[in-house]
Amino acid sequence: MKDHLYSTSDLHKGYDELLHKFIQNPKVDDRNFDLAVWYHDTGHTAAAVSFYIRTAERTSDRLLQYECLLRASMCFNAQGSRGNSVKGLLQHAVALFPERPEAYFFLSRYYEQEGEWFDSYTLASIGVSTSDDHPALRTDVGYPGKFGTIFEKAVSAWWCGLCDESIKLFKELITEYPLDKLHRDAVENNLRRLNVWDDSYSDKKNLGELRTPETFSSNMKTVDDEIRNMDRDLIVYKKETGTKLKVTFPKSNKIERNYSEAFQDIFVLLATNGKRNGTFVEVGTGYSVYGNNTYLLEKEFDWNGISLDVVEEFVDRYNHNRTSKGLLKDATTVDYSELFKASGLPENIDYLQLDCEPPSVTYKALENIPFDEYKFAVITYEHDYYSDSDKIYRTLSRKLLTNNGYKLIVGNVSPREGVIFEDWWVHPDLVDIDRLKDITMTESDEVVANSLFLEKSNNIPNWKSTEYPTLEITTTIPKNGCAVDCAFCPQRVLVQSYNGKKSLTFDEFKTVIDKLPREIRITFAGFTEPWLHKECTDMLLYAHSQGHKITVFTTGIGMNPEDVDRLKDIPYAGDPNGGFVLHLPDQEMIAKHPITEKYLKVLDKFAEHAGSIQNFRLMSMGELHEKVRDIFPQPGESAMWSRAGNLNREVILKPELLNLTDRFRSIYHGPEPHTCGCEEKLYHNVLLPNGDVSLCCMDYGLEQILGNLFESEYDDIMPKPFSCFDLCNYCENAVKPELTKENL
Ligand code: SF4
Ligand code: SF4
Repeated sequence: MKDHLYSTSDLHKGYDELLHKFIQNPKVDDRNFDLAVWYHDTGHTAAAVSFYIRTAERTSDRLLQYECLLRASMCFNAQGSRGNSVKGLLQHAVALFPERPEAYFFLSRYYEQEGEWFDSYTLASIGVSTSDDHPALRTDVGYPGKFGTIFEKAVSAWWCGLCDESIKLFKELITEYPLDKLHRDAVENNLRRLNVWDDSYSDKKNLGELRTPETFSSNMKTVDDEIRNMDRDLIVYKKETGTKLKVTFPKSNKIERNYSEAFQDIFVLLATNGKRNGTFVEVGTGYSVYGNNTYLLEKEFDWNGISLDVVEEFVDRYNHNRTSKGLLKDATTVDYSELFKASGLPENIDYLQLDCEPPSVTYKALENIPFDEYKFAVITYEHDYYSDSDKIYRTLSRKLLTNNGYKLIVGNVSPREGVIFEDWWVHPDLVDIDRLKDITMTESDEVVANSLFLEKSNNIPNWKSTEYPTLEITTTIPKNGCAVDCAFCPQRVLVQSYNGKKSLTFDEFKTVIDKLPREIRITFAGFTEPWLHKECTDMLLYAHSQGHKITVFTTGIGMNPEDVDRLKDIPYAGDPNGGFVLHLPDQEMIAKHPITEKYLKVLDKFAEHAGSIQNFRLMSMGELHEKVRDIFPQPGESAMWSRAGNLNREVILKPELLNLTDRFRSIYHGPEPHTCGCEEKLYHNVLLPNGDVSLCCMDYGLEQILGNLFESEYDDIMPKPFSCFDLCNYCENAVKPELTKENL
């Protein structure tokens, strides 16, 4: 790729000059872009975003649109808490210019940093196949070159279990690419860790920190870290949720929770009839608690054993967090006979776990086990059929274990649909096979583990699939819609679609709050200005007193200065889509705030407390209205989208929008089913004054009513994770369900 047309430092012309040019003709794309870069370079990322978006909306230059999307994502990235915005902008950049490499690189790195390895791998694979030979962008967006994308592919391949490919790519990087120092160090580090470092590589003068496997594990330094991550990522048994185990054995009713990725710990206990003081050999330690198959056995049933891994960090952590012994050993070459003797293990060992990466290594470790000297009551063998490109190791391992007298009890186990990764075996001399008859499944193509063990697996509420379940409150829907009547808000569509009662009463609000799980975040926003309801402050304080996290999106219209005093000390929750956002009037009157004396007093009050209100933010739809400019600084503008197509319907009903259609963007994903790609997933819903709950804040046409909270329980009306809705096909936040991490 050629050099950039100009460096950003070229743009450090005086702000006044840039602004002057812009004011002379705000429609010129270059002038918007120059201002955006100036704001960006001087750290005003919110303003920069709005000018990048303005540029992208006004220009017909596809390359410039692409660059604006990349640079806007850089701004959100710099803000540190707008992951969904970063992702969305990069996805649009990919869609806009699929033949260029930069957006794939950044999107792959985004997923890598989120630990979404398959998505990261997919994007990097596509990015690598694109050419670097394209016209230069105007500015440096931080794309390092093809080696950066190959590095992302190598790292994500490792975490997807494609270890041979990962090693091949790291070798390719160090021998064939001129790397910068950060990438070089990271590649060397990885090759050494994987025991494939060759001293001849030192001669290469390549000079990587993106992300290495070690930095991923740094998220899980303590037992609490591991448990927190596990509760987010895995389906486990937790007594407190009301879930019941389908199987019983001595002391099973005392178990508060389990820790395995796919209930292996419960299977071992069932097979050994809840044995106490059992023994185990864990090949492939991994995390000491997160998804660990022996933590429950050791902690609650007094088992003891040894655990082997080639990753020093895993072994160190195991020895720190566990009472059994972690050993830094290569499972494929270690002398197990000696090791077992030295560790004082009996000839009949209760449990053998085999779980290495990739499948070829696990099989080599299996071949290395001295089955002629030792018997194992239970074996869980990870063949990783789903990621085994040769599809041979499941067959080979079954043959070997059958020849050694083991009996398959459950084949093709997966922790969630589509991830067939293990077989579970027992030795008939050591285990009463009759005890396992209710769960024996040797012929199924796939056995999703939680269906075997959880009595009511559907007791896990659907909304638990996000960390940020949210209910927005629409306190009132006046006959003519919201009094502020922002041009870009489909109020006509709303009032045409709603025929329920006008306002929520305080008692109805309390009834709803009292039936919500405390984890549900309450957002005062909804389809109209929430403080058009005179009891809105009381509602907010009540929801807070009941332990809910609170966020707000308001214009302040309808408030009194006393409301601000009553609201200011609430600890408003942060992103996604959080904070206390004050929407200020703009000079163009795109938002038509009635700017009265009382309103200005409310703004003065906000200005007085702005520094102390937690997560307080400003926004406006353009240049601030002259009457409020001396109260607040100019905030960034928000990008305008069509609210899942509802603004296009509004155009017909609101003629003033006809002149503004170039100021908002629309999208249509085609007829294939789509679901929500927001961090709240499908669980950022909107309560209406009549108790109905609409899917989300895009649904001004009220097409997707999930149920009624006056009549039903919250859990009963929440949709299943990854459900698809017609509305999503028109929404910029939508994704295909199969592209979500959980479905991979
Ligand atoms: S954006 Fe908010 S304030 Fe503006 S009309 Fe819509 S609901 Fe009312
Ligand atoms: S329309 Fe669908 S994708 Fe868009 S925010 Fe609503 S639920 Fe999410």
